[in-house]
Amino acid sequence: MLVCTGFAAPSATEPLGKISFNRRDVGAKDVQIEILFCGVCHSDLHFARNEWNFTEYPACPGHEIVGKVVKAGAEVTKFKVGDKVGVGCLVDSCRVCPACVEGLEQYCIKGQVGTYGGTEPVIGGPTFGGYSDSIVVDQDFVLRVPEGMDLAAAAPLLCAGITLYSPLRHWGAGPGKKIGIIGLGGLGHMGVKLAHAMGATTVLFTTSPSKVEDGKRLGADLVVISSDTAEMEKHTESFDFIINTVSAAMDISVFLELIKRDGALVQVGAPEHPLPVPVFPLLMKRRSLTGSAIGGIAETQEMLDFCAAHRLTADVEVIPIQKINEAYERMLKSDVKYRFSIDMASLKAA
Ligand code: NAP
Ligand code: ZN
Ligand code: ZN
Repeated sequence: MLVCTGFAAPSATEPLGKISFNRRDVGAKDVQIEILFCGVCHSDLHFARNEWNFTEYPACPGHEIVGKVVKAGAEVTKFKVGDKVGVGCLVDSCRVCPACVEGLEQYCIKGQVGTYGGTEPVIGGPTFGGYSDSIVVDQDFVLRVPEGMDLAAAAPLLCAGITLYSPLRHWGAGPGKKIGIIGLGGLGHMGVKLAHAMGATTVLFTTSPSKVEDGKRLGADLVVISSDTAEMEKHTESFDFIINTVSAAMDISVFLELIKRDGALVQVGAPEHPLPVPVFPLLMKRRSLTGSAIGGIAETQEMLDFCAAHRLTADVEVIPIQKINEAYERMLKSDVKYRFSIDMASLKAA
């Protein structure tokens, strides 16, 4: 067994603190990665506080992992010691179901193995995430971090980046399309950057007037304060699709009205409580309310390469692991610009 050090929540109501736990030894097709940076996703907070009702404790979150390969199993062909690599939200899947065969491992019919909160396929028990010093992952679920990319700023691409890239591609963001992004947090700011880079007319909806300038700097053609009814009404029936990244339950009806006939509201935010759904804005214009979960492994690599080609990464505030509980409180107040990235070297001093 590989003994690891990490930060975990002991229960839904206690702060995260230092723990030690076991990971499997490096198997023939595994790599061991020394974790250098791990982004802080709002999902980490939902999970640590058991807001999705499946958390086992101690709960060690983190699925925006960047690090370097320190050991490779005998049959590893894709990576070598010293390579800069990433791990996102998945560390395994069945690989044979129709979803896996299509490269949609995130929709694996047998159930993919989450980087945290999953079931460890070799030694059993829960998987532990990236708020830790190292991780062992099958090479097929490891990504190449493009040469020259800033590692702290690359980490959030592994979840926030792919979670927006995948629906933007699936619903066809590009020139001539008008796309909305709701919420300027970790996911939302990647959505604005990516939609802009894909050539779509990009509109950011925010509840925070203080974020208007940043929204434009990040690539939005227009920023709309969603409480401004007159401004919202100017966009009635004009969007091809809108992606909702908000982490809390909210009224989506005002946004449905802004979507064209046959357009879609794509839910990526995963709030603790259900959303109320008004049906008339759906049926009167044949609009869809749909959702999207992260992305498959091949698409995640495509996203990283797209980001490298467009010189895109996340805007990060680098923190030591000792500030993680404070970071969660700031995230709840929408006070993140625009993703925390944990410098994992700080774990040694914890
Ligand atoms: P985040 O950084 O906290 O950003 C969420 C943003 O939503 C905030 O910055 C804020 O933006 C807005 N917001 C927050 N509370 C609000 C409220 N009560 N009403 C209206 N707007 C509100 O979170 P994140 O890491 O981007 O994650 C967002 C959600 O996506 C979480 O639920 C997370 O679990 C989920 N997620 C889903 C997937 C997936 O695969 N589908 C992947 C990763 C994360 P403004 O200040 O601009 O309004
Ligand atoms: Zn995430
Ligand atoms: Zn599968």
